[in-house]
This record gives sequence, structure tokens and C-alpha cells, in this order.
Amino acid sequence: MKRVAVLGATGSIGASTLDVIARHPDRFRASVLSAHRNVAALAELCAAHRPELAVIADPALEGELARRLAAAGVRCAVASGHAALTAAASGTLCDTVVAAIVGAAGLDSTLAAARAGKRLLLANKESIVLAGPLLLQALHEGGGELIPVDSEHNAIFQCLPGGRPDLRGSGVRRLILTASGGPFRGRTRAELAAVTPDQACRHPKWSMGRKISVDSATLMNKGLEVIEAHHLFGAPADTIEVAVHPQSLVHSLVEYVDGSVLAQLGNPDMRTAIAHALAWPERVESGVAPLTLATCGALEFEAPDLDTFRCLALAYQALRAGGDAPAILNAANEVAVEAFLAGALPFLAIAEVVEGVLAELPPQAVVDVESLVARDGEARAAARRQLRRAC
Ligand code: NAD
Ligand code: MG
Repeated sequence: MKRVAVLGATGSIGASTLDVIARHPDRFRASVLSAHRNVAALAELCAAHRPELAVIADPALEGELARRLAAAGVRCAVASGHAALTAAASGTLCDTVVAAIVGAAGLDSTLAAARAGKRLLLANKESIVLAGPLLLQALHEGGGELIPVDSEHNAIFQCLPGGRPDLRGSGVRRLILTASGGPFRGRTRAELAAVTPDQACRHPKWSMGRKISVDSATLMNKGLEVIEAHHLFGAPADTIEVAVHPQSLVHSLVEYVDGSVLAQLGNPDMRTAIAHALAWPERVESGVAPLTLATCGALEFEAPDLDTFRCLALAYQALRAGGDAPAILNAANEVAVEAFLAGALPFLAIAEVVEGVLAELPPQAVVDVESLVARDGEARAAARRQLRRAC
């Protein structure tokens, strides 16, 4: 029986994870659930899944969570705050941690799980973009394992020999990450000038949280994934390509030196990657409908439009610049996306803010978490200054 901490349980990945767990009560148990501020949703999830511990990140809401659980007759421990989240990720109540918090807010709990040697199911891509080398070091020290949940990286993991997440000596020539292209594929810059947050969040293939939906619309999501692939698989930037594939059935591909190209296919539903990561190296049912080749139609692939969707080019630029440039990129993007979602920044200005912050803060070497968090703060402050200029 695997005891699973689902951090970010009230989100989109959290829901998919709990769905898969509930299908296999003999194998998996959701032992810890966490949320940011949505007490009502967290209490409901606790009533349905009966964890041993519920953590609400906002300390002001701990009392209300306890009251709601008591009223619903749910007996589980309650904790709150950032430190409680980190303690839960590394504590004895779980052996597996699903890192499904959105943004840099997930960094500490992800690192704590890695240091504690847990099986880390990584959805929170921002933490590996922000602190790739430190996360890998923490994993090494903890002796646990990381199974990627991001569908592209999970696909690549499945296409590598024996699921081995290390490219050296494996005959791999290229990693090809597929991208749906998002809701604005094929649009010109002029057509994107006035798009709204709701339009940006209306993804044609995937149902996701609002931040990653905007990242998909700008192609920053693919940029973050290029950096994620670089760290996860030890792949240089030049060996990672992006192919726009609007059907979202091929989740990514690995090309070998002999010309073989292996791909992982399936319907666009995160439960496949989550079930794979939970059960690996075994396989379990995920609830995802089988892919019917005869009716899925033509599969198209095209090059991304880097002039219109500049965030992808900026992510490559940050990866090549090295040091903490990816952390700067990520922080600036989080601030810009938040402003866009709040209606305070035009869509195309997201890339301008990120570019401006990258230019303002030349990369520095990554030393430790403390200095990285300080740089993340500097980048957020610089992004807010850029926002004032852009508005
Ligand atoms: P979401 O917005 O639906 O859910 C985010 C979760 O994080 C919620 O449970 C929320 O309560 C929690 N959270 C937010 N801010 C927090 C904070 N400051 N402290 C503690 N908890 C906080 O997001 P999502 O779509 O589920 O995405 C989660 C992560 O998974 C992101 O990093 C995203 O990039 C990644 N991811 C998502 C998908 C997808 O299909 N949704 C696919 C691949 C990767
Ligand atoms: Mg992805």
C-alpha cells in the first residue's frame, strides 16, 4: 500500500490524482491532502478520501478547516502554514508525494520530499525550472526517485530505455516535446493584442488551472518544459525540440541515433501520466478512455511560431544563458501572468515583461536555495516595475 501526499489537492492535477487513487483502494491511499485557501473544497476532499492529515497553507483558515471537518464527522489531523506543508512532504505519513502546487510556492515542499527520499511525482514544473540543480542534488542525497507527471516528460520517461531518466550513453539524439499550440495557434500578433483571460484559459484540448492555461496560450508552458526536460534528462538545449501538434494525442517523442523515433500516445487526460507515475514500474487502470486510432483522424505537426509566441524563445534564451536565468524567467512570468489574469496587463506584454526582467538581471551562478529565493524576489520586484511601465 502506497501512502500518497497530494499537495495541491484542490487543483486540476490534485483532482485527477485523487480520481486515480480512488480507483485502487488496495494499492494507494491519500494520506495527506493540502490546499492554499479553499477550505470548503479541502474539507469535502477529506470527507471523500479520509486522509490522516489535512494542511491548509493559509494559517488564518486552520480553525475553519477544523470546524468543517468536525461538523462532517471527519477525524484527521489538521495543520496550517508553509512549514506544515514542508513537514508533511518529508514526514512519516507518506512515502509518495504528488507535487501539484502551482508556481514557485511549491518549491520548498518539493525539495523537502526529495531530501527525505520520497517517490516524487513532479507536476509542479516551476520548482525544477527555478531550482533544477538543487532539486537534483536533493534527490541524490535523499536516495528517492522522481517520476515526471508533466505529460510530455512522462512520455519521454516512458520512451527511454527501461524508463531511465538519464540520456548519457543511451543513444538518444533528440527529445521532441509536443505542444498543442494553445487556444491562439495560428493567430497574428495583431489578433492577440486584445485577447482576454477567459479566452486564454479556454484550452482546446486540456482542462487545467488558470496559470498553466495562460502559459499554454503564450507557449511559456512549453518553454518551462524545455528547461524541465534539460534538468530531468540531462539534455543540452540543442537536443530539445518543440513540435506543435494540435491533436494532443502524441505526448512527446525520443529520437535515437539509429533513426528510431519512439512516441507515447494516448487521449489528452492527465490521469494516464499520473497512473503511470503512481504505479511505476507496474501499470494500473487510469479511467482514461482508450485511444481509437480509426477515429482519431490525421495527426499534424508543425514548427512553433517563435515570433508571435516569444515566451518560448525567451525560455530557450534563459536556458542557454545558464545560472539562475531560468529562475528569473519563471519569477517574471508568474508576476506577469497574475497581472494578465487580473485584467491589468495585455496578453502580448507578458513576453515584454519577461524579456525586460531578463535584460535587467544578468544571470548569476546557482549557489543555494536561500540565494535563489532572494533572486526570485528581486526578479518579482523588477517585473512589478516593468508592469508599471507596460500599463
Ligand atoms: P491549479 O491552479 O488547478 O491548482 C493548484 C493547487 O495549488 C491548488 O490545490 C491550490 O490550492 C494550490 N496552491 C496554489 N497556491 C498555493 C500556495 N501559495 N501555497 C500552497 N498551495 C497553493 O493548478 P494545476 O493546473 O493543477 O497545476 C498544478 C501544477 O501542475 C502546476 O505547476 C502546473 O504547471 C503543473 N501541471 C499541470 C497540468 C494540468 O493538466 N493541469 C499538466 C502538467 C503540469
Ligand atoms: Mg505539459
